[in-house]
Amino acid sequence: MTAVYQGACHCGFVTFEVCTEIDHVRVCNCSICTTRGTLNFRVTPEQIEIHTPLNQLRLYQWGSMTAKDYFCPHCGILPFRKPSQPTEKERAAGIQPFEGWAINVRCIQGIDIERLPVVQINGAAL
Ligand SMILES: [Zn+2]
Repeated sequence: MTAVYQGACHCGFVTFEVCTEIDHVRVCNCSICTTRGTLNFRVTPEQIEIHTPLNQLRLYQWGSMTAKDYFCPHCGILPFRKPSQPTEKERAAGIQPFEGWAINVRCIQGIDIERLPVVQINGAAL
């Protein structure tokens, strides 16, 4: 069921809300997701409202430099990120760019993470 979920980093400097149905979490095996341990869920730009200006957050980029990982500058938590864009080869194979956000479901308040089905993403192969 679609609902409005409130999200925040650990210290509360970064807040956001999403209006969607969080019915699963994505666990990716790429190097950054493995070390970070986030549980991701993708939302469209229309489904998320970020309350903290992005220029007040820290940004981490690596590899193809197309993903944008935003961190709270105070507590270091990543509440959301912009996923990477498909490579030319992937675009040629028909993979469409995703313009939305991946939120860290661990930052969503009052959600029972243990009950959400886990979808494995083979990001290491990308
Ligand atoms: Zn924080």
